[in-house]
Amino acid sequence: MIIVMKAGAPQTQAATIIEELKAKGLQPVPLFGVERTVIAVIGEERDINVGHLEALPGVEKVMRVVQPFKLVSIETKKEPTIINVNGVKIGSKQLAAIAGPCAVESEEQMEAVASSLSKMGVKILRAGAFKPRTGPYAFQGLKEEGLDILRSVADRHHMAVVTEIVDVRDLDAICKKADMIQIGARNMQNFELLKEVGATQKPVLLKRGLSATIEEFLLAAEYILSNGNPNVILCERGIRTFEKETRNTLALATVPLVKEMSHLPIIVDPSHATGKKSLIEPMTKAAIACGADGFIIEVHPNPSEAKSDASQQLTPSEFETLMKNIQPIVDAVGRHF
Ligand code: PEP
Ligand code: MN
Repeated sequence: MIIVMKAGAPQTQAATIIEELKAKGLQPVPLFGVERTVIAVIGEERDINVGHLEALPGVEKVMRVVQPFKLVSIETKKEPTIINVNGVKIGSKQLAAIAGPCAVESEEQMEAVASSLSKMGVKILRAGAFKPRTGPYAFQGLKEEGLDILRSVADRHHMAVVTEIVDVRDLDAICKKADMIQIGARNMQNFELLKEVGATQKPVLLKRGLSATIEEFLLAAEYILSNGNPNVILCERGIRTFEKETRNTLALATVPLVKEMSHLPIIVDPSHATGKKSLIEPMTKAAIACGADGFIIEVHPNPSEAKSDASQQLTPSEFETLMKNIQPIVDAVGRHF
């Protein structure tokens, strides 16, 4: 950390700060210039209250030199984290293909989609039982009944289940029925929810918030790791911008950038990122090309009848075509399913 004192600030003000930092076990190194003093601070700067330092007399600004997160950082752990979900080693050379409808609507709907997907080799089934909807009159999900359907259909087809949690009160029920817990974009900064899933050992699929910076995204993951759960898979699902032609703007640079900053795996959700069927295949190819560890795609047996996200869901046969068409990219980057 670097503390820049105001021009002409008396040296006694710098001396007071130096004493305070030493008392906290840090090593302040003052550099006395002609106009101003700069204090370089060696030690664990994440424990320092920057706002407090900035408010001290004589201080002009305080600059961090390390990231505010620690456990998710590549500096803490150099080798990539690999999370095994139903035999899929997410974060390894093996790509995770996660697919399923936006929401669980009925046993028949889930059976139709799971039987097709499992035949294509998809090992992780997605579907929301608790749906975070923008309006209160929209379909809110089948809740516990949806969880039961999801579990029994997945078991029948030897699939793992990822489903979203929207309320901490549902955590026990979700932990019993799901193999991976999704924290949706709208809850990425629901810190109490992050702490609670952090107290479990379930893999967590953490989606990027609608307007979250990459630093905020990684800090959300840090909440989960710092509460004891190392099994976090990040998911770039597009951010809200001025663009209206796509549902969100898929910020694919997040993928290689997060890999420079963190050891956690990161997958891409081209369904919510684009909101358009025709864009899902090209953006899946792009995601794989730029190093994503997998993808999560919405597939519904009868998309036009879907109770949520009807316009972005692929049919099983469209998804099968996508899986075939992405194979050359998968091969080119040396990955496999
Ligand atoms: C979802 O995956 O169904 C979902 C609601 O996604 P997001 O949180 O990314 O909008
Ligand atoms: Mn959806």
